[in-house]
Amino acid sequence: MDYRNWIRDIPDFPREGILFRDITPLLGHGQAYKHAIDQLAEQVQLWAADVIIGPEARGYVVGAPLAYTLGLGFVPVRKKGKLPADTTAVTYDLEYGQDVLEMHTDAIQPGQRVVVADDLLATGGTMAATVELARKLGGVVVGAAFFIELLPLHGREKLSGIPIHTLVQYE
Ligand code: IMP
Repeated sequence: MDYRNWIRDIPDFPREGILFRDITPLLGHGQAYKHAIDQLAEQVQLWAADVIIGPEARGYVVGAPLAYTLGLGFVPVRKKGKLPADTTAVTYDLEYGQDVLEMHTDAIQPGQRVVVADDLLATGGTMAATVELARKLGGVVVGAAFFIELLPLHGREKLSGIPIHTLVQYE
């Protein structure tokens, strides 16, 4: 299945000069969405994960159905101040300034095998911060799964040592 048929290019979003890859048509197409999740799940199963972690918000539309399909738990990573119980935080650099991601401190047990999931791998900053959070809590990150990879941004380099699986790659 060529998922590109359901990925829409939006020029100059969220800022001028950025070509945004919009997955909402894919999410809105039941067959394509299911196919994409099932295909990622086949790979994730090989990594023998205990738990799936995804950063808000589009990491949830990939990570949660992956977890459900494989009968695994799902752990949400959120922006600062959104999670109700004790949290562990990581600060990471954005193009302009910094941001903070948080996870519940008891969400992962030391030694658990973790797969991180998101819709798209660009510079890798978001996923590198998510990986750092998982490791802070003792998780062993065994793989990273994405619908889309933007090859020119070399996000893989920020996730070195972690097996990565993506369904669609853009030059
Ligand atoms: P990174 O941190 O630079 O790898 O950017 C990836 C994060 O930004 C992911 O959480 C994506 O949801 C979001 N993102 C960046 N570019 C795009 C895009 O073109 N389409 C959809 N999401 C994007």
